[in-house]
Amino acid sequence: MSDYKLAINGQNVDGDMVLDVVNPATGDVFAQVARASVAQANSAVAAAKAAFPSWSRTPIAERKKILASFADKLNARAEEIARVMTQEQGKPLAESQFEVSYTEAFIRHFAGMDIASYVVQDDEAFHVEVRRKALGVVAAITPWNFPILIPGFKLAMATLAGNTVILKPSPTTPICGLILGEICNEVFPAGVVNVIVDDNDLGAVLSEHPDVAKVSFTGSVETGKRVMASASSTLKRLTLELGGNDAGIILPDVDVKETAKKIFAAAFMNCGQVCLAVKRAYVPDSIYDEMCDELAKLADAAIVDDGLKQGAEIGPLQNKAQYEKVLGFLESAKKDGTIIAGGEQVDRPGYFLRPTIVRDVAEGTRIVDEEQFGPILPVIRYKDGEDIVARVNQSQFGLGGSVWSADKDKAIELAGEMESGTVWVNQHLYFAPHIPFAGAKNSGIGIEFAEEGLAEFTQIQVINVAN
Ligand code: NAD
Repeated sequence: MSDYKLAINGQNVDGDMVLDVVNPATGDVFAQVARASVAQANSAVAAAKAAFPSWSRTPIAERKKILASFADKLNARAEEIARVMTQEQGKPLAESQFEVSYTEAFIRHFAGMDIASYVVQDDEAFHVEVRRKALGVVAAITPWNFPILIPGFKLAMATLAGNTVILKPSPTTPICGLILGEICNEVFPAGVVNVIVDDNDLGAVLSEHPDVAKVSFTGSVETGKRVMASASSTLKRLTLELGGNDAGIILPDVDVKETAKKIFAAAFMNCGQVCLAVKRAYVPDSIYDEMCDELAKLADAAIVDDGLKQGAEIGPLQNKAQYEKVLGFLESAKKDGTIIAGGEQVDRPGYFLRPTIVRDVAEGTRIVDEEQFGPILPVIRYKDGEDIVARVNQSQFGLGGSVWSADKDKAIELAGEMESGTVWVNQHLYFAPHIPFAGAKNSGIGIEFAEEGLAEFTQIQVINVAN
């Protein structure tokens, strides 16, 4: 018997298999959840397909009401979800609590949106109206870094637009997704939202499935490319939100202490496992040593502990594979630069690594060119006055970026030159449901949030009438 069940066709059901869930703060299994077979994945798709005609015809006002009660039920279980999130994901409890409340805010925002038709021509000859129709069954495939937020906003956007959904959360953080499934079974008609758990073996089943109309995927560039390839045979619609290697460009005129604090927070939140984290800091000669010292001080002072412990500021890495990958980055960073804070594993069970600052490092090294997705920040030197944006833009990634300066106009000008979907000025990380979010270059295809993101869950239909 598993502790959490799948959601298929409105029922909470056992899986044909069971999956162990590890607490990254201890390395021990703390729960067992239902794991779906290929046959169960297929029956989830069949349930979603069967539910589509009725759900897509349900008036949007009714769908909005259901989404609002989805948000209410999430709110009612907020504390339970936050605790279990910290156990399965590792982040400090306060970050989990924030994630649950932010998810609720996203759902409520989408519950307040409309999908309106509009007229583009109306004269003696023609009346031409543009409508937006639901696509069909959407597969939402999600990563382990935000296990409630990413599934929550994908479910909300997809269902508001009239689609039915199969959510497949990451196998290392399945519980949050399964709790969403329990809640969905209480509020949506049977089959509208289905949640299945795999062991990295069902994503491809969904992205190849002829009855899936769209894949909304968030994850790594590598897997995103695989999803795109397997979706091509049935020409599925795709949204790919992929990895990032965000640069923070710091100009010489900043307040070093204040900026260091903000850069540190944006680099080490969720143990650096944020697609939009600052993953490279570019600092000019004139303040390079001072900025490195400030960042190192913050890293030395950070409290690294089990996320359930009061006061923990940075938890463990989320899973063993990611931990080992990040240790590989650490080894190459030791050769390619100078470690001035952290750099050592914490002597305890679990996947802990102290926040690490690397200086005297440049492009052409793994820690600068690749996405580390962990608590290691390279600080890269540039010459005051150098065209630093050109260097930053050499990256294959283009998710986010930031420019930091006392001269806001100058910073906005540089921001416009960066090849990234989002560029912040004197901040990093703020995103919200009314702001479109999209990666440039290898960081993705398509848009999430706002009108633009919602539109991606629909298909245009033009009704063109002779007058
Ligand atoms: P991942 O690509 O390993 O896995 C993501 C999901 O894809 C999981 O559910 C996994 O089971 C599934 N999957 C695995 N193989 C598949 C296949 N062949 N077909 C379909 N699905 C398959 O990513 P991860 O390690 O879980 O997450 C970390 C990555 O996600 C980082 O690169 C990070 O930057 C990125 N990310 C991006 C955003 C964004 O919005 N751009 C947000 C969060 C995370």
